[in-house]
Amino acid sequence: MSVSDQSERRGSVYHRLSSGLRVEVVTSDLEPGGIGVVVLVPTLIGSEAAKRPFGAPPDERPEGVPSSIVDLVKPIFNGSRMQGWNVAESGPPADREIRPGEPSLFEEYRWKAIALAAALLIQAVLIAFMLHERQMRHRAEVESRRRMSELALVNRQATAGELSSSIAHELNQPLGSILTNAESAELILRSATPDLEEVKEIIYDIKRDDLRASEVIRRMRSLLKRTPFETKEVDLNQTMREAFEFVSLQASARNVAFYVQTFPAPLQVKGDPVQLQQVILNLVVNSMDAMAKMPYGRTIIGRTEVNGGTSAVMSISDSGPGIPQDKLNEIFDPFYTTKEQGMGIGLSIARTIVLAHNGQIWAENQSGGGAVFHLSLPLVV
Ligand code: ADP
Repeated sequence: MSVSDQSERRGSVYHRLSSGLRVEVVTSDLEPGGIGVVVLVPTLIGSEAAKRPFGAPPDERPEGVPSSIVDLVKPIFNGSRMQGWNVAESGPPADREIRPGEPSLFEEYRWKAIALAAALLIQAVLIAFMLHERQMRHRAEVESRRRMSELALVNRQATAGELSSSIAHELNQPLGSILTNAESAELILRSATPDLEEVKEIIYDIKRDDLRASEVIRRMRSLLKRTPFETKEVDLNQTMREAFEFVSLQASARNVAFYVQTFPAPLQVKGDPVQLQQVILNLVVNSMDAMAKMPYGRTIIGRTEVNGGTSAVMSISDSGPGIPQDKLNEIFDPFYTTKEQGMGIGLSIARTIVLAHNGQIWAENQSGGGAVFHLSLPLVV
């Protein structure tokens, strides 16, 4: 067999045989779009041609030689397209050949696509989990702040109870003066020639005493008020001065001298003023308790300063016996107390409040005797 002519179209080669037959040989895949095709198969042609006599003139079909085109063709199917069109493999003729055909895009990238989908799914699950975690953490934070506020209120109520006798005294003083002044004014006005200038002065004193009493009530109310934890810019110098003033009467009743040394400029920190004042009250009341058995020399010093330009530090020191060296951390634990009537929550609440303000609190013993508590809070920049 010789090949006299050869032409090509996509996927097939056409051969013109010396016997005059023109055959299509599928070289690569089948025609696009089709499921299968009936093709002349070279091996079948070869074996058929070999059966024919040699030396036959070109372009002439030897007579008498039977030909059967059916023997030379074979149905060839594209397996993947058969699958695509849902043609059962048992459907086509029995002598067919099924070629795998070109894989579809999905078949070619199936594992990569599955891996990508799995990665996306895992990522989505992780993101959903993290969002859920974040929400849970936020809820836990809100809940812990609510509980801290509740506990802080109990602590403030206890402090108010402790200070109640001096607060009553603090209220009684202006109220007593108001009464005395009002009676004096009444007497003056009853006289035939009342000294109105004196009455004016008396009224001024009454107003001043009334404001003093109102201030005591305001402070007491703020101490006992149930307030949610809320922060605003506060001056630590002012907060410390107000807290010391709050317990000043108690201090003089207990023979304790107060000294306040504030940093010359305002120390703006972000915080809840009532709770920060509560920390200072707890520390000052503890210092007064620690010095209760001392016959004299009871002193408390409150100081504020700046540390490294980024944080404000407040120190409250006393001239008491100090804290056993191995208890300097333990004193901040809940229910640690060495007092007969103590609850042991004052310092633990103070620490919780300070931590909620992103600050730190720690205790030391001074070289000259007495304890000192430091409280550091970030300055507002
Ligand atoms: P409480 O006052 O009810 O005992 P606190 O938590 O306020 O609870 O204090 C815990 C303990 O820390 C006190 O009982 C005391 O032993 C110790 N402490 C606190 N402040 C001082 C201080 N300034 N000097 C000595 N000890 C102190």
